[in-house]
Amino acid sequence: MALSGGLRLCQRIFSWIPVLIITAVALWSYYAYVFELCLFTVQNTFEKAAYLSLFHVCFVMFCWTYWKAIFTPPASPSKKFHLSYRDKERYEMEERPEVQKQILVDIAKRLPIVTRAQSGAVRFCDYCQLLKPDRCHHCSVCERCVLKMDHHCPWVNNCVGFSNYKFFLLFLFYSMLYCVFIASTVFQYFIKFWVGEISNVHAKFHVLFLLFVAVMFFVSLMFLFGYHCWLVAKNRSTLEAFSAPVFQNGPDKNGFNAGVRMNLLQVFGDNKRFWLVPIFTSQGDGHHFPLRTLNECRNPLLASEGRWEDDGGSDDDSSDAEMGNGLSVAVDVE
Ligand SMILES: [Zn+2]
Ligand SMILES: [Zn+2]
Repeated sequence: MALSGGLRLCQRIFSWIPVLIITAVALWSYYAYVFELCLFTVQNTFEKAAYLSLFHVCFVMFCWTYWKAIFTPPASPSKKFHLSYRDKERYEMEERPEVQKQILVDIAKRLPIVTRAQSGAVRFCDYCQLLKPDRCHHCSVCERCVLKMDHHCPWVNNCVGFSNYKFFLLFLFYSMLYCVFIASTVFQYFIKFWVGEISNVHAKFHVLFLLFVAVMFFVSLMFLFGYHCWLVAKNRSTLEAFSAPVFQNGPDKNGFNAGVRMNLLQVFGDNKRFWLVPIFTSQGDGHHFPLRTLNECRNPLLASEGRWEDDGGSDDDSSDAEMGNGLSVAVDVE
């Protein structure tokens, strides 16, 4: 027991290493850009002032969104999705698996749940003892169920899900902006150093690396950001892109796709002024989502949860058991 506790602690400490790497690179880039480039290399005062002010806007937005992505706790399902004391007793006392499943089906009828496990059973988390809301998955790293879980991201050492997906997207966006700004302003000085027009050896080293690192990060971020733009447009989480959500009439990868505009509003909110600001503006409460099929006639889920009924799905096998395992999270999902 003590050993596993120690291992857990080690794991917790080590899980901050990627965040520390990003932080160290960001701090070094700040030093290299502000001191080595702007203060020691750039001669023109106007150019210096313009670079410094624009740089600080990018840097502040980058830090703010990174902070929000790391420290916004993942949202977990509300109490009504947990088994009540009575239901839990009934569920645990029952030895026949098919009756256990029926108990879950009966409870699910009172809840706004439409998705099912691959087997057709109601999705139940044994670890958290709750019925999983639609799009919710259990993260084995965070050891909890996370609403609209996207993936567990080691670079922010946090689960990306309903509560911080917007922050994560903005973090990718502002990181790219930061890299583009650095690369485009550093480039001419890179050339000047290269051809020997400026001979400050110390600054040369920092400026060369600044361009190299900015381009390298930009290229990798571009692919990740592009992929997430596609996911937002389709209204899919990374997990759902790998394994389509299962509805009562089978898996449907477009089950939550309400059209590009509506999908965008779901993540970023109705007010366009706040789209690029890292404050929470996503629509809904993360427990249920408009469905494509119900989209035209207004989703009854949003109007009244009481009307919920379902056919209970089939009766084989138990709930799925998603595992989040660092980078490999998406493939581990059933
Ligand atoms: Zn769970
Ligand atoms: Zn997690």
